Formats: sequence, structure tokens, C-alpha cells
Amino acid sequence: MTGSPALELSGLTRHFGAVRAVDGIDLVVAEGEILGLVGESGSGKSTVGRLAVALDRPSAGTVRVLGTELTGLRGGRLRALRRRFHLVFQDPASSLDPRQTCATIVTEPLRHHGIGTRAERRARAAELCGRVGLREDLLDRYPHELSGGQRQRLSLARALILDPDLIVADEPTSALDVSVQASVLNLLKELQRELGFAALFITHDLGVVEYLADRVAVMYLGQLVEVGPTAELTADPLHPYSQALTAAAPVPDPVEQRSRERIEISADLPDPADPPSGCRFRTRCPIAVARCATEVPELREVAPGRFVRCHLVTDGAAPVALTPARAT
Ligand code: SF4
Ligand code: MG
Repeated sequence: MTGSPALELSGLTRHFGAVRAVDGIDLVVAEGEILGLVGESGSGKSTVGRLAVALDRPSAGTVRVLGTELTGLRGGRLRALRRRFHLVFQDPASSLDPRQTCATIVTEPLRHHGIGTRAERRARAAELCGRVGLREDLLDRYPHELSGGQRQRLSLARALILDPDLIVADEPTSALDVSVQASVLNLLKELQRELGFAALFITHDLGVVEYLADRVAVMYLGQLVEVGPTAELTADPLHPYSQALTAAAPVPDPVEQRSRERIEISADLPDPADPPSGCRFRTRCPIAVARCATEVPELREVAPGRFVRCHLVTDGAAPVALTPARAT
């Protein structure tokens, strides 16, 4: 325990030419917390994930992992810090080398950091297999001999082998069948409780986050539009975009589903190289007013722990026009 947040993003910005993929993100993931970063494809969420684990460098702003600033770290000091965090990708098929046995794949981080003898690494891999619900004999197979769910368990085993403090997972289950997806999410949740790592869980699927995360951050065109505790944000989303996402998320309880207002958002995501003036969501916002085109809304704390970027949300209540007309 360090007392420092697991991950701290300040003014995080990454531009690719004219594309403002990530444009001033401030976000903290506390020790042992699961934070869900939600957004549609093109929102910049994967770029945030890559920046958070130093696979990419920001154009501006900083990333601190466990109290240490990553920006500018090189060589041995970056390597030492890398032991403490790990990225799990969406599609294990493409991140697992098909020519290596599963044992070689799982123990790679140990070899990379020069930890243990061959026998010790093998023993640790076997232990991790047990943890993630894989039979130990699969270690002598190749990735293509495993099912999609087994491959994702394998990449979790690899992610956990160094006992990290932070895991960044980018759509780790979206390539899996729904039933397999649920079992991998359950596993991740159990492991997190047991091992206590913090996680930044990146997904387009608010339903997944609802199940897994302590807090949710909603991203739109490179910026955060709402941040809050999962239960509050999903039950009572304040930003029009979050409202649209919650309306679209599959809700297991049909009664609950009926009680939710359906917000239609029109049009496709605008070109991130040429985002709308004022509020970036205004071209799709069903309640936009004139000032939304001219004034940029700030991300403000509108109720304890709840942050919203919308001119019409000032006090923790959804804008009047969006409050579902519930039959009482
Ligand atoms: Fe909609 Fe305006 Fe709020 Fe943006 S600031 S979400 S356009 S109401
Ligand atoms: Mg992505």
C-alpha cells in the first residue's frame, strides 16, 4: 500500500495531427478501485488506456502511476514501474504469440524482469492457472488449441503473474460470446477482490461496467462528460450522453428496463479532427440550447462525487427536459 492513487491522469492530452483523440482528461483511480471508462468507438478511451501504461506518450499533461510520474521516465526506472501495472487487450488471439507455448506466454513478464529460475517460473504459472480456472496441462499447449475464453483467462494469468497494483483492461471481453464474457467478468471481479489491484476497465458497454466498476467515467470525443459512482450514475445519469448510453445498455430486469427513458441520439460521432464548437455533444444532444454552440461547458462537481460537463446540469438534477415523465 502506497497511499497514492493507483493512477492519476492530469490534463492528459494526445493529439494525432489534427485529431484531438484525448483532450484534457483529469481522472484518478484509487488503490483497489475498479473504474469503468465508457465511450463509443472513436471516443479516445483506448488511447487513454495506452497512455496510462506508457505504451504511448501524451502530447500534454501527465500520468502518475502509484505516485510516480510516467512522463519522462526511461530505461530502468520505467521498467521497474512497469512491473506494477499491466495492460490486457481486447483480443487475446492477436496479443498471444501463436508460436509460443502457453507456459512461455504466461511466464514472459517474469523472464522479462529476470525473476526466478525456470522451475520457479513454471510453478508460478501453474499457480496462476489455478487462480484463473485453467487446467495446468494447458500450459504445454499453444494458444490456437484454446477456446476464446481460455485464451482470455491465459492473458489474465499473464497479467497477474507479477502481482500488479494496476490493471488496464481494454475491452477484454468484447470478442467473447456473451456467456463466456460473463464468466470472465466474474473471474476478474473475484480476482480483484482477492488480490486488491486497481483496474481501469475500458469498454463501450455500460452494462459491463454496471456489473464490475465502483465508479464510471463517460468519455465523448476525447473528453470526460460525466464521472460518478456506478450505482448513482447508472440509476440517475445526468449528462444527456450518459442518459442515452444507459437507455441503450441491456438491463437484465425487464421492469427496470421499462422505467427508463429512451433517449435517441441522432447522427454519427462527429469528426474528431473537427469537433463541434462549444459543447462537443451538441450535434447529437436532444436538448441543446443556443449557448451550447458558443460556450464550452466545464466538467463540474454538481453533487458530492458527481461530475458533469453540461450547461444545463447545475445541481445534481438532470435537466428538466430530460427528466423521464414517470407515471406516478
Ligand atoms: Fe446538451 Fe448543451 Fe448540455 Fe452539451 S451543454 S450536453 S449540448 S445541453
Ligand atoms: Mg478501442
